[in-house]
Amino acid sequence: PETISRTRTGATVEFRGLRRSFGATTALDGLDLTVEPGELVALLGPSGCGKTTALRTLAGFERPDSGKVLVDGEDITGVPAHRRNAGMVFQSYSLFPHLTAIDNVAFGLRMSGIGRATRRARAAELLELVGLPQHAGRFPHQMSGGQQQRIALARALALRPRVLLLDEPLSALDAQVRLTLREEIRRLQQQLGITTMFVTHDQEEALSMADRVAVMCAGRLEQCAPPAELYERPATAFVAEFVGVMSRIPARAGADDGTVDVCGRTLPVNGTLPGAAEVAGGKGEVDVLVRPEAVEVTADGEGTSRIVGASFLGATTRLTVRLADGGEVTADVPTHTATTLPVGAAVTLRLPDRPVLVDRRRGNG
Ligand code: ATP
Repeated sequence: PETISRTRTGATVEFRGLRRSFGATTALDGLDLTVEPGELVALLGPSGCGKTTALRTLAGFERPDSGKVLVDGEDITGVPAHRRNAGMVFQSYSLFPHLTAIDNVAFGLRMSGIGRATRRARAAELLELVGLPQHAGRFPHQMSGGQQQRIALARALALRPRVLLLDEPLSALDAQVRLTLREEIRRLQQQLGITTMFVTHDQEEALSMADRVAVMCAGRLEQCAPPAELYERPATAFVAEFVGVMSRIPARAGADDGTVDVCGRTLPVNGTLPGAAEVAGGKGEVDVLVRPEAVEVTADGEGTSRIVGASFLGATTRLTVRLADGGEVTADVPTHTATTLPVGAAVTLRLPDRPVLVDRRRGNG
């Protein structure tokens, strides 16, 4: 019998200028994205930014108003869903309730006319792959949510799809099961080398599982990059604030082009970022965006800022510091230094000598 290791894998997926509106709502507003063979790309973004619409367009459940979807260079925009060979797993357990686990997995194989013996063999192999060979005879209601999602995954993989599409597959599960399944999906995906797109609104999930994370905003791609790069070199203020936590510190555009005066020092501006032009234009008041761990807080009786809140996070303690002008800044300090920084203490803030991200001034608080 054929084996799962012969899965056709490693398709390249390209979205080119995808647009899709529903009445007055623009779900996709010119989405461009390429997913490399064998890659796992997570689509991340706020509710309504078009993640699911993008995935459904790849699956063939939605037709774009304009733009193209290419798989291995072939334009599949007009190809119906059942001929696209995409495996899908949804948030809700979409197993057939009246079929056993093994029959659920074998269902698609039966529909495509594969003989019974081959079907059973391949379904058994897939149950093995997802770690549930002993559950072959169980019905969905006799399995936990996590087990049902494993069966759904096995079913999605049964037809050897060219791409695997996962739409919030873990969000209905409890935290512990979610963590285990994250690792299992990742392991399977890598083992099979299958190109995978994963929709999630959970940034930790996206950052921990994906080769690259595609951050979407209002139907467009903001940035697609490996997790560390997204965190360390966000391309836009939106990405910076959506991924992780950012502190906004009121600042003043420097006398020189490309610098800002912030917390009593002059720092270079990261020139590729939006906001840099505004600073160079000398418009004066801006916000500097930095990670909370980059804000140094020193107890200083003369300091004009004041600690107004502290929460213990383990190795670090997160302080809320109120500035003289009323704005608030989040700063993470090593917990062992936090004892010298009680709530109410007057402090001075300082930033390291690195280029900073600048954005338009936004009203604080
Ligand atoms: P969420 O994280 O909340 O699932 P999302 O990023 O997946 O959101 P989409 O489901 O792609 O977003 O929806 C994008 C926009 O298009 C939303 O404003 C949504 O209300 C709208 N939309 C999606 N599908 C339809 C539809 N079939 N009819 C009307 N509007 C739709």
